[in-house]
Amino acid sequence: MKSILLPQNEFERQEECGIIGIISKEKKEMAHDLYFGLFALQHRGQESAGIAVAYEPRKVYYYKKMGLVNEVFNEDKLAAFPDTNCGIGHVRYSTTGSSNVVNAQPVVFYGRWGRMAVAHNGNIINCDAIKSRLIKQGHIFQSSIDSEVIAALINLYSENSLEEGVKRACEELVGAYALVIMADNKLVAVRDPMALKPLCLGDKKGDILFASETCAIDSLDATVIRDLKPGEIVVVDENLQMHSSFISGVNRRSCIFEYVYLARSDSKIDGVNVYDARYECGKMLAQLFKIDADVVAGVPDSAIVSARGYSEVSGVPYIDALSKNRYIGRTFIQPSQSLRENSVKIKLNAIRGNIKNKRLILIDDSIVRGTTSRKIVQLLRDNGAKEVHMLIASPVVAFPCFFGVDMESKDKLIGGYKNEQEICKAIGADSLHYLPMDCLVKACGGKKEDFCTACFDGDYPIPIDKYNCGKFVLEI
Ligand code: SF4
Repeated sequence: MKSILLPQNEFERQEECGIIGIISKEKKEMAHDLYFGLFALQHRGQESAGIAVAYEPRKVYYYKKMGLVNEVFNEDKLAAFPDTNCGIGHVRYSTTGSSNVVNAQPVVFYGRWGRMAVAHNGNIINCDAIKSRLIKQGHIFQSSIDSEVIAALINLYSENSLEEGVKRACEELVGAYALVIMADNKLVAVRDPMALKPLCLGDKKGDILFASETCAIDSLDATVIRDLKPGEIVVVDENLQMHSSFISGVNRRSCIFEYVYLARSDSKIDGVNVYDARYECGKMLAQLFKIDADVVAGVPDSAIVSARGYSEVSGVPYIDALSKNRYIGRTFIQPSQSLRENSVKIKLNAIRGNIKNKRLILIDDSIVRGTTSRKIVQLLRDNGAKEVHMLIASPVVAFPCFFGVDMESKDKLIGGYKNEQEICKAIGADSLHYLPMDCLVKACGGKKEDFCTACFDGDYPIPIDKYNCGKFVLEI
């Protein structure tokens, strides 16, 4: 059995963030529940983890650090948290802000309502403009993350009530955001007006939960109630009275890449099972592309479901071709990205007995830079595969994302500068086909206009030129 070592940032695209918030009538070991919820959201960010809980009126106890959830928190750390009725948590991968603990979340600060804590998933594209304005007004910032700007804006506008502050702040934000905010004995959850980022509501024996994905609510043995609607602000007070209001300008354009790759297969987003969407993509690939092959396999984890769907329709037997070591964590933090890329490895093995002398169809969820696909194809050939035909369960990724998913500039995306034939040659496959957009949209259970599809077709839901997306424009 041969194996390859891939830098973590090649094998797994750096996902965005995961957030969770819980409020209860009773004081309890809240940090433990938040920990298990964050554990279920670990796939959304492996750089840092943090928990903040309310204790005494208007005070917050928090702990955050670089590392995986189970590296940041052990039993001693969790036991140090006071019993409380409310808390929020965050896992992060940096798509904005540099990689250091100052940029870890939740952001905790003193404001009009005592200590407040904010956790954010997404990217605010007018953040630099807001920050410049606030700095000129005398505000100061200690980090480079959007969440601190959001917190400052909420505080600025909270003169009369926290609810008003959140609403006025959100009316100014442009971009993608799912937020949980804890202050004034309340828990607030917000989903941006385009619902770009997922956020759902759950119930656990009367306690109220918010989480980026339903898998976190399921993992706590709670019941998923519903997704937050586009632009919805939900405020829950200490008596668990819940009140919803809406940010103006609602226009749903949910991130379709959540179904393709970002979300866990056992999650459900806006009423659609991620597993079902991926399975359907595989079935459609089989209807569109009939390939003379002996076996079909998926790249773990997200494409395995699509490979099973392909197998069902085509009759080509499903096999496991690759094995991923899931237990390599972030053991220490290197000071620079390049050192980190070299030191944090993910081990990927080919299962030789399953592929030797076989004509193999390999399904992946997407191709971003192309380097990973090339290494995987080579690995399969080195282990005896006779032919490797790649099928991709989404269209060509050709445009950058400005909404919190780490797809860099067009020149770093292989689909941004090569056509399909050239990509096939570059990754060394015998053939390569992509799922068309209309099929992906159908599999995700909506209409094209319900989704952001920009990284595939450049159809951005926001006029990106107007906001200088991708450029650093902080003016002081
Ligand atoms: S550009 Fe792509 S990854 Fe970014 S929000 Fe839109 S669909 Fe999602």
